[in-house]
Amino acid sequence: MADTSHLQTPLARIAELAAAIPPRPFIDGAFRPMANDKTLDNVSPRNGAQINRIARCDVEEVDRAVACAKAAFDSGAWRGMAPHARKQLLLRFASLMEEQAEEFALLECIDTGKPISATRSFDVPQAINTLRYYAEAIDKVYGEVGASPASRLSYAVHDPLGVIGVIVPWNFPLHLAMWKIAPALATGNTLVVKPSELTSLSALKLAATAIEAGIPAGVLNIVTGLGHEAGDALARHMDVQLIAFTGSERTGRQLLRAAAESNLKRVSLELGGKSPHIVFADWSDLDKAAEQAAWGIFYNQGQVCTAGSRLLLERSIADAMLDRVIAVADAIRPGDPLDESTSLGALSSKGHLDAVMAQVEHARSDGLRIACGGEIARAESGGYYMLPTIIADVPPDHPLAQDEIFGPVLCVSAFDNDEEALAIANGTRFGLAAGLWTANMTRAHRFADALVAGMVWINGWDSCDITMPFGGFRQSGYGRDRSLHAMEKYCDLKAVSYTFA
Ligand code: NAD
Repeated sequence: MADTSHLQTPLARIAELAAAIPPRPFIDGAFRPMANDKTLDNVSPRNGAQINRIARCDVEEVDRAVACAKAAFDSGAWRGMAPHARKQLLLRFASLMEEQAEEFALLECIDTGKPISATRSFDVPQAINTLRYYAEAIDKVYGEVGASPASRLSYAVHDPLGVIGVIVPWNFPLHLAMWKIAPALATGNTLVVKPSELTSLSALKLAATAIEAGIPAGVLNIVTGLGHEAGDALARHMDVQLIAFTGSERTGRQLLRAAAESNLKRVSLELGGKSPHIVFADWSDLDKAAEQAAWGIFYNQGQVCTAGSRLLLERSIADAMLDRVIAVADAIRPGDPLDESTSLGALSSKGHLDAVMAQVEHARSDGLRIACGGEIARAESGGYYMLPTIIADVPPDHPLAQDEIFGPVLCVSAFDNDEEALAIANGTRFGLAAGLWTANMTRAHRFADALVAGMVWINGWDSCDITMPFGGFRQSGYGRDRSLHAMEKYCDLKAVSYTFA
């Protein structure tokens, strides 16, 4: 058993932080008691041990949270606030998050199983950056004046929708929630957020921090619990105007059904992907491409909707590239998420680890070549770890190359020419991200045009930030997070015409 004595201080701090988060929903500015006091165990993927308990909210708590959010919206206290004042409050919120960054990083690490180095350097700073980006945008986004005759003044303004329901998954709980929370708050809406039942701690802490920053009570509410209970109640609520969702295709379909069966609320969907990562023979720096191909799938234990889960290699360099990617993968060993040197942490849950390993077994039983990994790791820790895994020569129509695995599993295939590369790349039901490495600019732009994907990265995987829209084509969903475009989905456009007497 590894020596973990150096982790005693962070573990003690985590225990303190988790104890400060009661098993209650955060409604109207405080953690509120529940009608039935039902709770769920909150287990850390790091070692399978219980961190604390969270509230198992149901229709009653969701009703209460939506009613508070609606009252906060209707009062005008938030939407009617002068833009610069709302901006200052959100900037203060971001500064408080920054002061508490280490607390957020520790909680996110223990709750998700992702490495502390990632929560410190990525999840938490990115969430703060997102909040600042939309805060700053508040007094810089204008409406429109129409081209009307001199006898009339016509203008269009963006009106907030009202109560927004945010439903998010467990892979980047704080970061992805903030992609929705920040633009929704910036545009004057009020919110009820339902984090994943596996990872609710950062959202609960976030709501408490918002109150500390001076955001009015009722503006940001959190209901925890199960998807088919709290999530479904939110999706069916008659006073919720939009469900902003990130998660699986299956849940996306259920949300559309719930909207159709309730108040026809809008639904924005950020769903899964099976993103192709294409390397052409004219790209000379194979080491660089291999490093990014490996981390394009293994980052966050492969639990990234935009993971480059299909590596497509031009045949003449296929062996050389595969060797290099295997070398990178072999050097990545899963480790304790709290250890600062760990770059690959635990998968989110035992159930998810089992599902990913079942896909690897599927590959084995179909005679596919497991080029590296393919095994569970660190089982003695009690946590949910596996080795980075590469499956070679996967036929493009095999289910492994078609369905999302959402784990550290890379499927590799070779192609002979541009047409074949494009056909394989576009040959799934998804269209989230795509990447290519080529020295040929004409080919680069031809592929950028022809790839069916919401994001195309040329000569650098995932080379984007908050300034560019994020979202998918086809069954990867619709609606965009990030960039100023994200603000549009939280608003309605109102056309006003004034006729002069
Ligand atoms: P999930 O769909 O099971 O859960 C996501 C959220 O939806 C959770 O909060 C869950 O409680 C809730 N939910 C589940 N059933 C519900 C229902 N019937 N009604 C309302 N809410 C419900 O997904 P997951 O397992 O948490 O996350 C993994 C999936 O999310 C993967 O498929 C992945 O591709 C996708 N994902 C997509 C993106 C993206 O931006 N496109 C980002 C991250 C994850």
